[in-house]
Amino acid sequence: MNAHPRLPATRPRLPVTDRTRHRRLREQGSLDRADLDAVLAAGFLCHLGVTVDGTVMVVPTVYGCDGDTLYLHGSVASRSLAADPDATVCVTVTHVDGLVLARSVFEHGVNYRSAMVYGVPRAVTDSEEKLAGLRCLTEQCTPGQWDYARRPSRKELAATRLLALSLDEASVKLRSGPPEDGEGPDAELGLWAGVLPLHSSWGTPEPDPALTEDIAVPPHIARYAAR
Ligand SMILES: Cc1cc2nc3c(=O)[nH]c(=O)nc-3n(C[C@H](O)[C@H](O)[C@H](O)COP(=O)(O)OP(=O)(O)OC[C@H]3O[C@@H](n4cnc5c(N)ncnc54)[C@H](O)[C@@H]3O)c2cc1C
Repeated sequence: MNAHPRLPATRPRLPVTDRTRHRRLREQGSLDRADLDAVLAAGFLCHLGVTVDGTVMVVPTVYGCDGDTLYLHGSVASRSLAADPDATVCVTVTHVDGLVLARSVFEHGVNYRSAMVYGVPRAVTDSEEKLAGLRCLTEQCTPGQWDYARRPSRKELAATRLLALSLDEASVKLRSGPPEDGEGPDAELGLWAGVLPLHSSWGTPEPDPALTEDIAVPPHIARYAAR
C-alpha cells in the first residue's frame, strides 16, 4: 500500500551512504523506500539530534512528512532548531510493537519499526511554504485539525521556526516475530518465551473545563479517537 497519497505508486530503493549503511543487526535493515514512508506516516513524534554549543542534544518533537520532506517546528528561541545552519542533524522515529521475551536474557529484544534521517535542514522563510509545512505537521498529529482550528496569525508565524529536512539520506530498520532461541539449546530450559505486543490507542476526548456545553467534540476528533 502506498503510505502517502502524494507519492508515486512505485518507490525507489533508499540510497546507501556511508552513514546509512546498516552494519550491526543488518538483517533488520530495509532499503525499501515504502518502509521509510510507512514508518514516517505511522507517527508524529520524532527525536531531533543536534549539536548545540559542543554538546549533543536529542530533543523530542513533533514532525510532519510531505513527500520527500520532513518538517520540524518550534519557537524561534529554540536552540535545537537554530543550531549551526550548516550542520548535519539526525532525526529518528521509533515505533515499539512489542517486547521479545526470550529464554535467555541475551536474546531478549524489541519488535519495532524505526527510521533515521540525516541532513542539513533548511529554514523555511517563505510564508506560503511555512503555512503549508505547519499544515502538514498539524494534520500529521491530528487529521482535520488544520481546517478546524484558527490558523496562525502573522505574528505567530513570525514567532515560529520551521525546518525542512530532505529524506534523501535515511535508513530504516524493522523487527517482527518471535525470539530467536526457540531452536537452540535454551529451548530445553522449559521456560516460557514469546512476544508481549504493545498497542497504543487514543482515549475518550476530555473537554476543556472552560468549554460551554453547546460545543461538542468535532467529528474529525471523534473519528480519530475511535481509531
Ligand atoms: C526500540 C528499539 C530498541 C532497541 N534496543 C536495542 C538494544 O537494547 N541494544 C542494541 O544493541 N540495539 C538495540 N536496538 C537496535 C539499535 O537501534 C541499532 O540498530 C543497533 O544497536 C545497531 O547500532 P549501531 O550503533 O551498531 O549502529 P550501526 O549498525 O553502526 O548503524 C549503521 C547505520 O544504520 C542505521 N541504523 C542503525 N540503527 C537503526 C535503527 N534502529 N533504525 C534505523 N536506522 C538504523 C543508521 O543509519 C546508522 O548510521 C533497538 C532499536 C529500537 C528501535
